[in-house]
Amino acid sequence: MIRDTETLQILLDSLRQFVGEVLIPRENEVAETDMIPEDIVERMREMGLFGLTLPEEFGGLGVTMEEEVNIAFELGRTSPAFRSYIGTNNGIGSIGILLDGTPEQKHNYLPKLASGKLLSAFCLTEPDAGSDAASLKTTALRNGEHYILNGTKRFITNAPHAGIYTVMARTNPEIKGAGGISAFIVERGTPGVSLGKPDHKMGHKGAHTCDVIFENAQVPASQLIGGIEGVGFKTAMKVLDKGRLHIAALSIGAAQRMLDDALGYALERKQFGKPIAEFQLIQAMLADSKAEIYAARCMVLDAARLRDNGHNVSTEASCAKMFSTEMCGRVADRCVQIHGGAGYVSEYAIERFYRDVRLFRIYEGTTQIQQLVIAKNMIRDAQR
Ligand SMILES: Cc1cc2nc3c(=O)[nH]c(=O)nc-3n(C[C@H](O)[C@H](O)[C@H](O)COP(=O)(O)OP(=O)(O)OC[C@H]3O[C@@H](n4cnc5c(N)ncnc54)[C@H](O)[C@@H]3O)c2cc1C
Repeated sequence: MIRDTETLQILLDSLRQFVGEVLIPRENEVAETDMIPEDIVERMREMGLFGLTLPEEFGGLGVTMEEEVNIAFELGRTSPAFRSYIGTNNGIGSIGILLDGTPEQKHNYLPKLASGKLLSAFCLTEPDAGSDAASLKTTALRNGEHYILNGTKRFITNAPHAGIYTVMARTNPEIKGAGGISAFIVERGTPGVSLGKPDHKMGHKGAHTCDVIFENAQVPASQLIGGIEGVGFKTAMKVLDKGRLHIAALSIGAAQRMLDDALGYALERKQFGKPIAEFQLIQAMLADSKAEIYAARCMVLDAARLRDNGHNVSTEASCAKMFSTEMCGRVADRCVQIHGGAGYVSEYAIERFYRDVRLFRIYEGTTQIQQLVIAKNMIRDAQR
């Protein structure tokens, strides 16, 4: 539901300009240094990009889901590391607090997250609990006015930079599944909290993940999200529903960028005396990619509008994430092919994008997990 088309258009135009004139020219620098330059972080703060999805009362822009996916289409056109840096504050690191936090928790953390002065991270995955997140083993046992946390969280985006961690931990070890899990806000510097070595990843240079380790970490009871035990897994799933639409939209932006680059290359590169764009086999790859991007875009916009209208979009969000991220992988592969040998060397952005977009099919629920969610919902609805 777009609240004000004119304001959104101004935001999208300035974002398009920022992506095209500032971020794309710095992509190689980010890939080489594995860092987002501080001047760019500052520009992103000034533009309000850390608080896009947080309500205006907390200093954010309060965009709707439809507005958010339109923004993600633009941000997807450049290295995902830029988006990743602002992504946790707009999504997995903040939405749990926004949806289920107490008024004190919201007022304490959301304004700092919206301004980008504080970074957040979302700690669900563990060494032995990935897709089967409800089997997580990290414990949080009540001891007077504190909970004592023990366990390890794995692959946590922005963990090296975050000032707060939203941590899913088992407050009731007697309950093995989702019902025993609660969500906490854990501040950096809490004694007993430490970080593992940064992970060496296939792509997403400039975006950092590592383990977050809890060894008898004493967390004040007031940091339990919403002050209620046993609902942390539900909080995490609500966060991921929204995140899946965002990742779907990012994949569409990335696919569009790769296709634009491939078309430009195909028009310039000559073989057999003419631009390769004139060969019908190249045209087929261009056309298939165009049609698939269009289909994914329609799907994501439809799901976003449904969510803005108050519908439960568990099925639609999973359909959109599965289709868009898989589509992005197919487009990446075709665009490497269109570049020929040039697509395999790092002089062209497509080589980097090919590695970067592989992640979209894995995190925030793998493709297989999206298939399971869709089928489970279908079977449940059929049996009603
Ligand atoms: C760069 C990066 C950033 C990340 N950021 C975060 C973060 O910020 N916070 C966080 O909590 N997590 C994060 N993750 C973790 C990510 O969400 C998990 O890696 C993902 O959910 C998959 O879990 P897994 O790696 O344990 O794979 P597994 O669950 O071990 O899956 C391995 C394979 O088995 C398949 N599989 C598993 N179960 C089934 C099933 N029932 N049926 C069919 N197939 C199945 C999977 O689809 C996959 O193909 C990140 C991961 C990466 C790589």
